[in-house]
Amino acid sequence: ESFTDMCLHPSLMKDIVFHEYTAPTSIQAQAMPVALGGRDLLGCAETGSGKTAAFTIPMIQHCLAQPPVQRGDGPLALVLAPTRELAQQIEKEVKAFSRSQESLKTAIVVGGTNIAEQRSELKAGVDIVVATPGRFIDHLQQGNTFLSRVSYVVLDEADRMLDMGFEPQIREVMRNLPDKHQTLLFSATMPVEIEALAQEYLTNPVQVKV
Ligand code: AMP
Repeated sequence: ESFTDMCLHPSLMKDIVFHEYTAPTSIQAQAMPVALGGRDLLGCAETGSGKTAAFTIPMIQHCLAQPPVQRGDGPLALVLAPTRELAQQIEKEVKAFSRSQESLKTAIVVGGTNIAEQRSELKAGVDIVVATPGRFIDHLQQGNTFLSRVSYVVLDEADRMLDMGFEPQIREVMRNLPDKHQTLLFSATMPVEIEALAQEYLTNPVQVKV
């Protein structure tokens, strides 16, 4: 399947072409139609496979189908990643594929950076938040953002997040999501802890593997 077969918003398609992605990678060809169709996904894929775009492009398409963000709105889409570096890479890709989307607001919420600046960005209203779990929970607890609008969740490098001790934070987020949401879980390995997490929080997921 090519990107043009995926019925993407023309402006999003334009940004993909601008970014010089001509053909989808294997994980993209498998995962994007599933994500675009609104299904939950369990993806076994490593960094280098193109997994970031596999969840980022459908995430932007998802946001484009919603009304524009208002001041004070919590995110429609939330990406949790284990490290600041990975979150920054994901944010870069989100920016690349939303070049044409003037009204789409993205915030990056990671440790080791100015929390007050993040607070005001969150409070201004956002569509997409890319975060590390600890810092995101801090903001939730401070009432700087909330989960009531979240309808698209990505757990990226879930095995690494568990290795780093983020399971309580992940569960805290997953437990408090609105009923109607879509979840994509990506992991390089599938230990029993990940299978348990998937069992608990994914609904009838499609499994893809590269
Ligand atoms: P990722 O696994 O998401 O970290 O992506 C690995 C690398 O592949 C990144 O440098 C991406 O920019 C690049 N990449 C991902 N998808 C494509 C694609 N469809 N065409 C060309 N490069 C890609």
